[in-house]
Amino acid sequence: MLGNLKQGCLTVAKSAGLFHLASSSPLRNARVLVLGYHGVALEDEHRWDPCLYLSPQTFRSRMEALKRNRCNVLSLADALRLSKAGQLPERAAVLTFDDGTYDFYKVAWPILKEFGYPATLYLTTYYVDFQYPVTPGIWRYMLWKTKASTVNAGGIVGKDVTFDLTTAAGRAGALWEITSFADSEKMEAEERNALSAKLAGTLGLEFDSLCERRLVQLLRPEEIRRIAQDGISVQMHMHYHSTPLVREAFIKNLEANRERIATITASEPTHFCYPSGHHRPEFVTWLRASGVQSATTCDLGLLSPSTDPLLIPRFIDTSTSSDVAFESWIVGVGALVSRVGALVPHA
Ligand SMILES: [Zn+2]
Repeated sequence: MLGNLKQGCLTVAKSAGLFHLASSSPLRNARVLVLGYHGVALEDEHRWDPCLYLSPQTFRSRMEALKRNRCNVLSLADALRLSKAGQLPERAAVLTFDDGTYDFYKVAWPILKEFGYPATLYLTTYYVDFQYPVTPGIWRYMLWKTKASTVNAGGIVGKDVTFDLTTAAGRAGALWEITSFADSEKMEAEERNALSAKLAGTLGLEFDSLCERRLVQLLRPEEIRRIAQDGISVQMHMHYHSTPLVREAFIKNLEANRERIATITASEPTHFCYPSGHHRPEFVTWLRASGVQSATTCDLGLLSPSTDPLLIPRFIDTSTSSDVAFESWIVGVGALVSRVGALVPHA
């Protein structure tokens, strides 16, 4: 209801010429829109998880909207430098991609090249070393993909339990059982992959085929090297996709990630993205002490000269964002509406 109302208001604002006015306003042009993406679907991932994946068509339409609105798409480093110097071009935007799944290489990168847009890829590296489908993502995908409605999971989780796969709640319960089992057994990548293969068999899916198609898999070192040589900025997202609460573990995870990226790309990464957007004041302190120059969050907003560079807000674009909502962020109206919305108590 509130979503429809907001959508309607944005459409009216656009027709009334407010988008056009806002797009040239000093308020917008002193700020940078940092866009956050995860995946652009190889196959049907956008239907499985519309919040994480966009279809190639939707992603292309977003790039077209940036072009149509005459946005200046900058590299993250340039945007930070120009923002600090008060020298931003009009409608500045930055493109960032989290995780580093294969679809970036196969689908997103060619589209970026076509538009001539620079981008930052935040790469998590554990599954770069182990070229298996990433868990628990692949488990979640397979539980959605299967045509089976119920399965006995005794052979998977070591206890007599039946998974109901007909509802989202049933699939979430099944995922919880599998993840809890893998964690309790302290499984590492190889064992987790064996569990993935076993689950695929139980669900009637061809695991070898899923692997060959590189679904929910990370980039290979040679692919990372190639995109880095082509100008994609490959930056940090932790070795394990996690943010430990203990300083030593946090730094170890960060440094392993930094070292792997530096080795693969022959360039020292200096920018960071908080996995799953989790940030705490102590993380900012630890990152600063480690020489990290910037860090992006999943908090909604625009980057302004007063933004702490280790707490950069983004607009996380998803399949569920309408065209008009996306455009409202390009012109700066979206940020205003979200701030007003935050002041309005929910009914
Ligand atoms: Zn991530």
